[in-house]
Order: sequence, then structure tokens, then C-alpha cells
Amino acid sequence: MARRKKIYEGKAKILYEGPEPGTLVQYFKDDATAFNAEKKAVIEGKGVLNNRLSEFFMTGLQSIGVPTHFIKRLNMREQLIRQVEIIPLEVIVRNFAAGSMAKRLGMEEGAPLPRPIIEFSYKDDKLGDPLVPEEYIIAFGWASQQDLDDIVALALRVNDFMSGVMHGVGIKLIDFKIEIGRIWDNDFQRLVVADEISPDSCRLWDIETGQKLDKDVFRKDLGSLTDAYTEVARRLGVLPSNVTHRPRPTLIN
Ligand code: 5GP
Repeated sequence: MARRKKIYEGKAKILYEGPEPGTLVQYFKDDATAFNAEKKAVIEGKGVLNNRLSEFFMTGLQSIGVPTHFIKRLNMREQLIRQVEIIPLEVIVRNFAAGSMAKRLGMEEGAPLPRPIIEFSYKDDKLGDPLVPEEYIIAFGWASQQDLDDIVALALRVNDFMSGVMHGVGIKLIDFKIEIGRIWDNDFQRLVVADEISPDSCRLWDIETGQKLDKDVFRKDLGSLTDAYTEVARRLGVLPSNVTHRPRPTLIN
């Protein structure tokens, strides 16, 4: 296979130069990291599942008019995407208290919030992606007030879509993280949902049992991450037909 130019390698994905200007190939690795990469593992099949799930969510969003970077899936682990200028923020939407919010405010995990709450973290691994107020974002020029208004509107539409889709398959969307990119058409800028949407970047709880079906399974050693992601994919009807996750045989001695 011809070598490709690597543009960027992150914790869970690699970006390669795409076949046409303005495009990139996004490759999903099996690597899982947590706590700012202090905890690491290779989880067989995770990249394949996240490629499929991100395709499913991005195409669903596009079908309701939410712009994304997604063009098409190329194979089991790769998708073709529009090249964007990533805004250096993690946009987090919360419907129920969990994770860093529950810890910060001493709230019970799963407590409902009065309305969806959006917060921003500055994307910087060395600093551990610190939470930042809007004032910082505007003052440091990471995004304008108009950008922020547009980002909030986009994030709420993603939340409505994702909450509805997940509810339809018996899953509660606790919270999620998205990233936003800019695409320039001459002097005009469009903001689009970029990066990925997958159980790596959401908290997903089974409505009936409260079972966690997201990366917290890895963060908190709650069982098999592949089983959890496979369950999400199975419920959504997006399990790749030629990937079967067979339970390991039980050894009897
Ligand atoms: P928390 O701030 O509670 O740790 O995370 C809130 C939500 O954003 C969770 O769904 C979590 O998975 C997601 N999230 C926060 N930071 C990151 C990150 O650096 N990478 C990924 N993939 N998701 C993140």
C-alpha cells in the first residue's frame, strides 16, 4: 500500500492527508486512554466500533441539517472527512450530573439537571483540558461571541438528536463532548461538528438497569469495553456484519 502523509496522531485517532485538497482520512485506533493518558490499553475492535458509531451519529445529524465534517466511511477503520480548523475547545453538554461536574459540586451521579448545561474546556493535554469561562475564550481569541452563540445552538441540536436516538434504544444520554471546526468558503466561515461522536466521548447509561455503556467502563474497570460498545452498536443496528465479538471460552479445569 502506498505510504500516506500523516498529518496528526492523537490518543485514539490518526489523521492522514486525503485524496483531494480539503479532505483528510480519519483512522480509528484501538487505543484507549483515560485520566489524561495516565491509564492506557489496547482494546481490540474499539476503533472499528467507533468508526461505525461516529458515522451513524454524524450522518444522522446531517440528515436533520446539522453540518459535520463527515463525508463517507472508507473501510472498517477509516472515514473521509472535510479538513477543518479545529477550535481548541471541548464543548461538553450535560443532561444529568456525572464525572467532573458531580465531583466539583458534590452532586450525586445521575442527578437530573434543571436544563442541559454547556461548558467549555480548553483543549490542552499538558494542562489536563481545564474548564474555561466564556470570558477567557473571547479574551484569548479562541472563538468570538458570535462563534460561541453558534456553538451553543449546534451543541443543543446535537444534544436533542442524540438524546432522542439513544432514548429510542433504551439508553440515557448523561453527557457528551464534541469538537467544532471551522470551514472557510472564501471569507465566509461555517462551523461544523468535527472529531468523533462515539461512546468514547459520551456517557451512556441503560435506562432500565443504569448499566454504563461508555468509556467509564474502562476508566472505572467495570468490565469489557468492547462488550459495552458492541451493545450500543447492536441496539442502534450498526454492528458491522463481518465483526463478531465472540465471548471468550470458559476454561474448565
Ligand atoms: P467530564 O468532564 O465529566 O470528565 O466529561 C464530560 C463528558 O465529556 C464525558 O462524556 C466525557 O466522556 C467527555 N469528555 C471530556 N473530556 C474528554 C476527552 O478529553 N476526550 C473524550 N473522548 N471525551 C471527553
